[in-house]
Amino acid sequence: MPTTRQSLSGTVRAPYWWDTVGSRESCPPLSGDVRCDLAIVGGGFTGLWTALEARRRRPQDRIVVIEAGSCGNAASGRNGGFCAPSISHGVGNALKRWPTEAEKLIRLGRSNLDMLETDLSAFGMEVEFERKGKLTVAEQPWQVEGLRSQAENYRRFGIDCEHLEGEALKRRLDSPVYVAGLYEPNYATLNPAKMVAELRRVALSQFVVIYENTPVTRFMNGSGGLELVTSGGVVRADRVVLATNAAPPLLARLRLATIPIFDYALVTRPLTPEEMRSIGWTDRHSIADCGNQFHYFRKTADNRILWGGYDAIYHFGSRRNEEDLRESSSLDRLAINFARAFPSLADVSFTHAWGGIIDTSARTTFFAGTAHAGRTAYAMGFTGQGVSASRFAALTMLDLLDDVETERTRLAMVRTAPFPFPPEPFRWLGVRWAQRGLADEDRTGRRSLLNKTLDVLGVGFDS
Ligand SMILES: Cc1cc2nc3c(=O)[nH]c(=O)nc-3n(C[C@H](O)[C@H](O)[C@H](O)COP(=O)(O)OP(=O)(O)OC[C@H]3O[C@@H](n4cnc5c(N)ncnc54)[C@H](O)[C@@H]3O)c2cc1C
Repeated sequence: MPTTRQSLSGTVRAPYWWDTVGSRESCPPLSGDVRCDLAIVGGGFTGLWTALEARRRRPQDRIVVIEAGSCGNAASGRNGGFCAPSISHGVGNALKRWPTEAEKLIRLGRSNLDMLETDLSAFGMEVEFERKGKLTVAEQPWQVEGLRSQAENYRRFGIDCEHLEGEALKRRLDSPVYVAGLYEPNYATLNPAKMVAELRRVALSQFVVIYENTPVTRFMNGSGGLELVTSGGVVRADRVVLATNAAPPLLARLRLATIPIFDYALVTRPLTPEEMRSIGWTDRHSIADCGNQFHYFRKTADNRILWGGYDAIYHFGSRRNEEDLRESSSLDRLAINFARAFPSLADVSFTHAWGGIIDTSARTTFFAGTAHAGRTAYAMGFTGQGVSASRFAALTMLDLLDDVETERTRLAMVRTAPFPFPPEPFRWLGVRWAQRGLADEDRTGRRSLLNKTLDVLGVGFDS
């Protein structure tokens, strides 16, 4: 078996996804002051879906997107591209946190994925969208039990699924590590960089103005309306949407609502059909294991394996260093775990490695709200499941700005804020203890006292 260093030498430290997108010209940064009806801060999925939906609702409005770097430079261009039929980070999370509205959350999550697919074809977006299902695999006996109760919950809500063991599992994935699986056919994947690039293309074609390389440094309610200050000028807007995800929030009230968690991924060279057959992965479903420290893996369009997750790293003081997006001991750990899961592929090289920052909230779902007498809306806290939920969040923010009551705005998940994270040093200590407990639970099947207490308080930690 090769050493990790061998398999990561020569690995490009950048998201693979951007190699699949042709070169594009940056939108010019803001230069001078401008006025608009709606200003959106953040050019990721959330901000760009907001722009498209705002254009649909108000065709005459002047809509401006202000992006600190290039659109998709952050989480939206760095993720695994798992596109869930869920806005609540899964059925189990909906049931645990909002039992009385779980049915509604599950239904809205499934229809959001349907509508996302409809939008892709309505806008002619080519994003390698594939609805080929997802397999969740278990390694330990208590995880197999967890899969069985997940299957029961699925059946209760009419969600198709199939419990797999032995030969049936081997036909979907043949690994010495995993002993059982739950296959759900209604789950999609897409190419996230293509998704951002297509959202941006359509937004520009619909006369949305995008300023790239334009960080907003200050946001205030000034005499001339809401003012977003940048080094190139000031944007004055009647209404503002904040779609800044894991970046330091522009509203003081949001500073304790989420923490930035670093998550990493590797991508292999393209694999041959024989290599894929050697691990029983001949269909194009995506896969994740069900540990607290879980791996997610999927195929790319050219048959590479993207292998990500496991560690979820919090740096003291919510540090967000660029260097940490390229280098981390997590990458070595991922490579070792890949070889363990797929011994027959242990000498396959990784062409790309990268990290991204997840906006973890204590409920592991997004929440939304308003400020400035309803003229500013925000949504954040997606916690590793924002590829599809970002579209739903965009619609929710516009409902809030339009001051209309909808099924979306009535959700307790949306209306109530998650439990805040404590300030340092308690934040760092709390995350460390919770993570240590979760890692122990993966080994022993026993939940730590701290995590049981957090469960009672409705506080969780995930990536
Ligand atoms: C490694 C990784 C893997 C993931 N895998 C998955 C997955 O498989 N499935 C899934 O559903 N989710 C996944 N996620 C989560 C998902 O990527 C995010 O939830 C989603 O992209 C959030 O979109 P967004 O537009 O809100 O945030 P972002 O894409 O982070 O966009 C926010 C934008 O705001 C800009 N910005 C911030 N502050 C300012 C400012 N002051 N001025 C101007 N601009 C500003 C940033 O530059 C950034 O472009 C993953 C995330 C990571 C990091």
